[in-house]
Amino acid sequence: MGWMDAVPLWDHHCHALLREEERDNLEALARCLTEAPLDYPLRDIKKTVVYQEALAVAAQELGTQPEEEPLRRALRAADYRAYCRRLFQNAGYGRLYIDTGYTPEQAWSLTELQEVLGISVYPILRLETTAEWCFRQSGSFEEWRTLFIQQVSQARQSGYRGAKSIVAYRSGLHIMPVDEGTASRRWEEMRQLGQQRLQQAELLNYLVHLATPLLIQQQLPLQFHTGYGDPDTDLLQGNPLLLRVYLETYAQQDHRVVLLHTYPYQREAGYLTSVYRGVYADVSLALPLAASGAVRILHELLELAPLSRVLFASDSHSRPESYALAGQFFREGMDQFLSRVVGAHQVRASVAADWAEAVSFRNAEALYGT
Ligand SMILES: [Zn+2]
Repeated sequence: MGWMDAVPLWDHHCHALLREEERDNLEALARCLTEAPLDYPLRDIKKTVVYQEALAVAAQELGTQPEEEPLRRALRAADYRAYCRRLFQNAGYGRLYIDTGYTPEQAWSLTELQEVLGISVYPILRLETTAEWCFRQSGSFEEWRTLFIQQVSQARQSGYRGAKSIVAYRSGLHIMPVDEGTASRRWEEMRQLGQQRLQQAELLNYLVHLATPLLIQQQLPLQFHTGYGDPDTDLLQGNPLLLRVYLETYAQQDHRVVLLHTYPYQREAGYLTSVYRGVYADVSLALPLAASGAVRILHELLELAPLSRVLFASDSHSRPESYALAGQFFREGMDQFLSRVVGAHQVRASVAADWAEAVSFRNAEALYGT
């Protein structure tokens, strides 16, 4: 019996799954296991541990060989909805929080996903996408600002359980306060240049500060993309330590901030969770992509992070095999960690059992609500 055997996993950051029409699309499977752009050679993605593991997951479930041709045939013959459901059930998923800011084409809607998997699914509001939508609806900075405030203020009422910012992707995590006059000028420039995508640092920073008090009021946490991502992100600007000014600004206001992914800055993230009272972190994406290092990466986050500040997430999308692996690596990593701290660090068994529940779903429950 392992520490993690009986606990459900609530995945607080993930994306939608591809529909059954794509059931035998092994290229989609390979592509969802990398952050590489579409022109990156497929043959190299296939020479990764995580791809080999994903083939093994599918083969085991379908009772066939972990090779592409037999797998394609088995996937074509399978009841794909039942296959997805079994993989999620076997991995012990209890709930998903979906970032709707990135949805693969040909994906199930949230309602369909809930139906297919038989578990609850909740949306997370992406701030930049919302701001861009508001931009398209507005004729002036003032209109845009009012509409954005309206959208974010209604987030909880509209069913969202949290918000997410991808400012790390656009201008980096060094978020500074920006006055309204400057933001307004940047907005006008954006309009004049005919841009649809928010990419100006001052406007992006203004937006995060505009949203934060509205989220605090509704007790909605704000997730930040940090660390690892596709090459669109400047990984140097994604170091969560850059959030210091922002974290200091809201440290006394019961603002809850979640550092997503964090790899390769999982130790920096662990440090931040250990000194700021509202900061949480995960190692999603590295679970499962960094397969052979996933357990070590999780352990490095846990060196400093209190067990009340660590969450499970997969950041998976498109294929169920990716979710299965993330769940498997997380359980393995936590099992090893808890056994070690009980055996070598005087942690009582009852405390370890409690920690297993905390990281798997109780911390998410406290953050996002039941
Ligand atoms: Zn994601």
